[in-house]
Amino acid sequence: MIKFKTLTLLIGFIALLSCKNETKSTSETSISDTLIEKNETNPENFGIVIHGGAGTILKENMSDSLEKAYKLKLEEAIRTGHEILKNGGTAMEAVTKTINIMEDSPLFNAGKGAVFTHEETNELDASVMDGATLNAGAVAGVTRIKNPIDLALSVMNDSPHVMLSGKGAETFAMEKGFELVDPSYFYTKNRFESLQRIKERESKNIAVNTFEDVYSKDSKFGTVGCAALDKNGNLAAGTSTGGMTNKRWNRIGDAPIIGAGTYANNATCAVSSTGWGEYFIRAMVAHDISAMMEYGGATLQDAASEVIQKKVPNLGGDGGVIAIDKDGNVSMEFNTAGMYRAHMNAKGELIVGIYKQNE
Ligand code: ASP
Repeated sequence: MIKFKTLTLLIGFIALLSCKNETKSTSETSISDTLIEKNETNPENFGIVIHGGAGTILKENMSDSLEKAYKLKLEEAIRTGHEILKNGGTAMEAVTKTINIMEDSPLFNAGKGAVFTHEETNELDASVMDGATLNAGAVAGVTRIKNPIDLALSVMNDSPHVMLSGKGAETFAMEKGFELVDPSYFYTKNRFESLQRIKERESKNIAVNTFEDVYSKDSKFGTVGCAALDKNGNLAAGTSTGGMTNKRWNRIGDAPIIGAGTYANNATCAVSSTGWGEYFIRAMVAHDISAMMEYGGATLQDAASEVIQKKVPNLGGDGGVIAIDKDGNVSMEFNTAGMYRAHMNAKGELIVGIYKQNE
């Protein structure tokens, strides 16, 4: 009898133990599931959203022809990515190819048309993130890479690292067969004159308080970014920039910082930021939006609005984000007068905007 009782107890104990083990392995699975989130394939649901920078972009300061040029370039860029997605391409391919179009245009502060540093050079930053694997790549302070977003992608795919900077990044680029351009490739008269105006203000000791005051009152910023959802339910995001006019001391902004300028996670959303980088780094803007969705169940729009309309301005910064979630919902949120932006959904409906009102 006693023996039987002992046996029953023993069986009960073993059952309890195996139950515990099961709980543990389930929670382990859910952690790794978060790391490689596979969303459902849905050929009907894909989308893409881009920005070309945020700032004091006012209709009264814009000529009709410049406005038209921006809108045409935004449309060309987003249609490039949309076509890739429509044909079953990956979100990452759509993001990088779309950004290439804007990097090659002198209208935007990325690639050709990058702003100038205090030393009258151009130092470029870029990053990408893949929402399916949480892999990421970034470059900072490169001076001879025509399309920094491509190098960021190569850092992700072809190196064991996430971020490379300066000369080392360029050595890596050469090893990977990238063609290096002469730094003069990035020169544009407009950006050079912006730097001279700021230097003049600085020399007169004019007080500087805001993003525009400090860096580029006359230039329209123009960092570029893209976020996309592909037919396989994968998300990706990327950002490319020349940084902020008159930056010094190899300053690096938020654009190449994963979690600040760029973030993508198939469980939540893909985000690209633009604005006063020092504040976007401190607010961890792109990851914060994703985290509010992941841990708090917020919608993309509520999360983006909380971070851009409250968190960043409360710290003293300004700017905006574009983002797309795993269901194809989009947010284009900014707290500045304007943000160059565009969105295209699976049906091919296109929205292009510059100012606060949807135009
Ligand atoms: N965020 C960029 C930086 O701080 C600038 C911008 O978005 O225009 O480098």
